[in-house]
Amino acid sequence: MARIDLDHIRHTYTASPKSEADYALKEVDHSWHDGGAYALLGPSGCGKTTLLNIISGLVTASEGRILFDGKDVTRLSPQERNIAQVFQFPVIYDTMTVFDNLAFPLRNRTMPEADVKRRVDEILAMIDLGDRAHRKARGLTADQKQKISLGRGLVRSDVAAILFDEPLTVIDPHMKWMLRTQLKQLHRQFGHTMVYVTHDQTEALTFADTVVVMYDGEIVQIGTPEELFARPKHTFVGYFIGSPGMNVVPVTLDGGTAHVDGEAIALPAPPRERPQAKTELGVRPEFVRLTRDGMPFSIDTVEDLGRHRIVRGHLGAHAIAAVVPENETIPAEPRVTFDPAGINLYADSWRMELEG
Ligand code: ADP
Ligand code: MG
Repeated sequence: MARIDLDHIRHTYTASPKSEADYALKEVDHSWHDGGAYALLGPSGCGKTTLLNIISGLVTASEGRILFDGKDVTRLSPQERNIAQVFQFPVIYDTMTVFDNLAFPLRNRTMPEADVKRRVDEILAMIDLGDRAHRKARGLTADQKQKISLGRGLVRSDVAAILFDEPLTVIDPHMKWMLRTQLKQLHRQFGHTMVYVTHDQTEALTFADTVVVMYDGEIVQIGTPEELFARPKHTFVGYFIGSPGMNVVPVTLDGGTAHVDGEAIALPAPPRERPQAKTELGVRPEFVRLTRDGMPFSIDTVEDLGRHRIVRGHLGAHAIAAVVPENETIPAEPRVTFDPAGINLYADSWRMELEG
């Protein structure tokens, strides 16, 4: 396994880039720890696949260097980097049996046949294809083929890292959940460095110890699921993670008080700096309280999800969502307050530090 350093990586698919907008990957300068389970999370087109392919060696970055355990591999092929990669759609040998597809990477490394059999049987059990081991891959369904692809990525234990690019897209929901759980167990058991690309927050948050959130060619935050939830560094992280996402309202700041539409909101502490910037207050729906006194609030919809309700309404012109636990009643003419513990402030979309 390896520690992977991305040293000032930038990438453009354009021959003569003219501005930042021509870069699919702006500046990535970051280390992936040996043995870490990472998720690369972000919307379609934000540069996840580009970054993954730069790590594997399928794409050579326009600028910067890649190091594996301190060794420069920038110009090396995926084989030379000793990487296993699983793609969104199956990449398998149709004319080989399921067993031989999985055995291929091991036989390639001249592993003794008895060890090949033991390892392939283990993986077959994991992807639940034991009973199809000696069938040709050609006749299998799309999701069975994808499971073979996944198995091939996992079969070798001597790789520097395993990279997954939205590998469960074609897998049915129940199997998806099982495979994700198994991947996590496998990570605990073998300690591979794993990088898992997804646009689905549930997948990212269940698989990874560390989630790397990307937006528009940039990494906007790296953190544990808890950190991303409690302290989104960028308003995008607040919107993208959580269901519903963080509420963001424009405010003016005055010491320890924020003002929105003439209403005053007490802050946990004054911000450290006074920015000359667009300032906003972010509060997750879990920290919005519907009370008898507070700021005026008009309810638009109430969605009952069993354990809690999602109430959507307006504070002045600003849409606000609140999560109300099952055992709490919603006042007849509710007003709204924000729990100070859940308040974050943003200047030009980036989180501001508070005093103290
Ligand atoms: P993601 O995997 O997050 O959906 P990608 O890394 O595939 O994002 O794409 C990032 C940006 O780079 C997008 O704007 C995409 O259109 C562009 N892009 C990706 N691959 C190529 C390519 N081979 N040639 C030109 N542009 C590309
Ligand atoms: Mg992609």
